[in-house]
Amino acid sequence: MAHTSFDTKLVHQKLDQKEVHNSKSTPIYQSSAFTFEDLDHLESYYEGDSPYLYSREKNPNTEELGKTIANLERAEAGVATSSGMSAILAGILAAAKPGDHIVAAEDLYGGSHKLITKELGTFGIEVSIVSFRDFDQVKHSIKENTKLLYTESISNPFLRVEDLEKLVEIAEEFNVKTMVDNTFATPYLLQPCTKGVDLVVHSATKYIGGHSDVTSGVLVGTKDLIDTAKQKIITLGANLSPFEAWLTQRGAKTLGLRMKQQSHNAESLAAALNYNKLVKTVYYPEFVSDRGNGAIVTIELEETIDIPMFFKSLGWIKIAPTLAGVETTVSYPVRTSHRALSQEELEKIGINDSIIRLSVGIEDESDIIDQFKQAIHKAIK
Ligand SMILES: *Cc1c(COP(=O)(O)O)cnc(C)c1O
Repeated sequence: MAHTSFDTKLVHQKLDQKEVHNSKSTPIYQSSAFTFEDLDHLESYYEGDSPYLYSREKNPNTEELGKTIANLERAEAGVATSSGMSAILAGILAAAKPGDHIVAAEDLYGGSHKLITKELGTFGIEVSIVSFRDFDQVKHSIKENTKLLYTESISNPFLRVEDLEKLVEIAEEFNVKTMVDNTFATPYLLQPCTKGVDLVVHSATKYIGGHSDVTSGVLVGTKDLIDTAKQKIITLGANLSPFEAWLTQRGAKTLGLRMKQQSHNAESLAAALNYNKLVKTVYYPEFVSDRGNGAIVTIELEETIDIPMFFKSLGWIKIAPTLAGVETTVSYPVRTSHRALSQEELEKIGINDSIIRLSVGIEDESDIIDQFKQAIHKAIK
């Protein structure tokens, strides 16, 4: 269905209809393994004529999800994993082996930062963390054994939009691969593979699933890298369960609709908060894509605002250590996503006690704006 547009492709992505008795929705293959009639049938699996053997290796529901996101991202192949974190690990291990070196952006999601700085060493992979705001720094940190440049298409929490063309240009110059976390942008707004990025990763827990009811990840990219990543996922046991894959796939069907509404709401909220004198700074991307600028708004409140009181006054807007659900939520980076960082690291990326990340939902735009306005006013010291 390569010729169809985003939403059409999304809702019509299905398993082979003959396999699923023309069911309208994909059945859940809640089975740890698949059986065989005789030894010839078993042999046919190894010859590639029967698709499934054991669910840790491959299952119809996880296959469907991997293919759907690869399709939306216009990547050659995709694979679903147990979480965004395991998708990131699988992608890095597909591109770098012991003795290799990777260069990663300093302003990554807290968990990714921790994985890269604290765990990759145990796999024998060397790491440099640099500012990707300055591509000269990126260039200078590339060494003989560098295999991968790792960054996010829209960073967290300051929503810096990565220059993917420039990233790919440098990678090609030095013959290294690129990997981009596209969680905040989603394929609705950005498709990094179309710009030459080799691997794109998602915490499908966020916008792709969209309903805060599942933890899952997806990795897409070139066929050779995804084939390698699949082997790592199987061996590390980082596969996604059939039910979680099914839930993620079901949530994903409305990705386009949700992103459209949530980006629109976020744009209005960012504009309203920009006019509010009690908000020191509003971080919202100027341009991500023709379809919108994403649904996360980060704010720094003035010193005259009592932060605990602000959180207490939000009413139906709840504090949640996540983002991207259909409900508007707020998070507090210093206490959640970036809790593991030292004071020095926090200062370097500019996170302080007054920084709050807003994940804008699908509610009515005026309700969202009013709710934030009244919470800020209630919290004046
Ligand atoms: C949440 C998140 C992750 C981690 O994903 P999990 O599904 O929680 O494992 C990685 N990157 C970004 C940008 C995220 O927001």
